[in-house]
Amino acid sequence: MQFPTQFLRASLIAISILPLRAEDLPTAGLNALPEVEFSHLSQHDPNPLGEKALAINPEQWKHGETEHFIYHFVHSYVVTPISIEAEFHYRVVAKELEREQPAGDIKSHIYIFERPEEWQQFQAFGRLEKWTGGIHSSGSLFIQRNPAYKFSNNSLGHEIVHLVLHRFYTDSIPSWLDEGLAQFISKDAYASYQRARGYISKPHSESIAPQDLIPITTLVALTQPPSDKVHTFYDESERLVRFLAATDKPAFLKLLDALARHQPFEATLSRFYPANFSSPSSLDEKFREYASKDFGSSLQQASNE
Ligand SMILES: [Zn+2]
Repeated sequence: MQFPTQFLRASLIAISILPLRAEDLPTAGLNALPEVEFSHLSQHDPNPLGEKALAINPEQWKHGETEHFIYHFVHSYVVTPISIEAEFHYRVVAKELEREQPAGDIKSHIYIFERPEEWQQFQAFGRLEKWTGGIHSSGSLFIQRNPAYKFSNNSLGHEIVHLVLHRFYTDSIPSWLDEGLAQFISKDAYASYQRARGYISKPHSESIAPQDLIPITTLVALTQPPSDKVHTFYDESERLVRFLAATDKPAFLKLLDALARHQPFEATLSRFYPANFSSPSSLDEKFREYASKDFGSSLQQASNE
């Protein structure tokens, strides 16, 4: 299977979407996520952070679930659009990675805080992802939403991709691959999600100034985004995933499987991409040009073919 064309062609047209008031969305009626008693949820979260979240102002929490996720929330009009976006992203990731879960398998838990002071209180328990402001821990997601605004970029999708990746690769995958896939898939999914709702939207992939590029051998060894190069790390990881997938999608899926089983990058790369990249240095050389392509021009097409 190939990635859709829009995955391969990173258009650099910036998108700007005005925030809509969540209350204005038609989600409180027929389509609202049904509330389920906590004791009647189909699964409980073994993650101790979940317990800590629900212990903060415990009487406020309501619960609900969809096919692949369980939600803990305060207001139905806040959780409903999140639940729709979560299932949407689940389908995109499963399709792109050609993975399936058996029916009734593990669901991911999503906790949605609304009050800033409670979110602040909860942050003491987990590591905030600098990029999205969410906390992802052992397959559960903790986020804060201001109920006055509809969420309007790919950050929620980014976090959902992490959750789904964790379902498929429970033993964790390298940071660059986790973050790169989260950006790569959510950017495209966000654009098609917006298009499905009548907005004009194209995926937006960031190029990197040549002098800022992190060498690939360094990038793939990082266990978390480096605090002095956060933007470069996310942008470069996204471009590397995009580049490897565009070069040979079946090889990319095999590489992903092998790296999820903690195989070394160098040997795995030359094993699955023998004709393209016999060593990390040959990848580095070809990737540098690709990663910096269109840098400094905001409206050119990043034609990857
Ligand atoms: Zn992330």
